[in-house]
Amino acid sequence: MQFRTNVKGERITTEYLECNHCGTQMYQEQELCIDCGSDSLSWYTQYTVYQTVFAKDPQDAFETANQIDQWLIIGGRLLLHDAGENKDE
Ligand SMILES: [Zn+2]
Repeated sequence: MQFRTNVKGERITTEYLECNHCGTQMYQEQELCIDCGSDSLSWYTQYTVYQTVFAKDPQDAFETANQIDQWLIIGGRLLLHDAGENKDE
């Protein structure tokens, strides 16, 4: 049974199963792929990989971060509440 509501939001998923045969992604535990029936399934877990740098601008920050070969990894995802630039206070 599927329930439908008026609630608007986004799916928050920290892991999913992916079929190694056809690539179908499944968000509930399954024994077999819901599309092709394969039993070759892999769990994918969400991680956030990041680097904090000092830079002149966003492009410089990207390039600087790529030059550093040590990245920080945390489980789950990092939510940024204010990613805007030049926001007036
Ligand atoms: Zn499949």
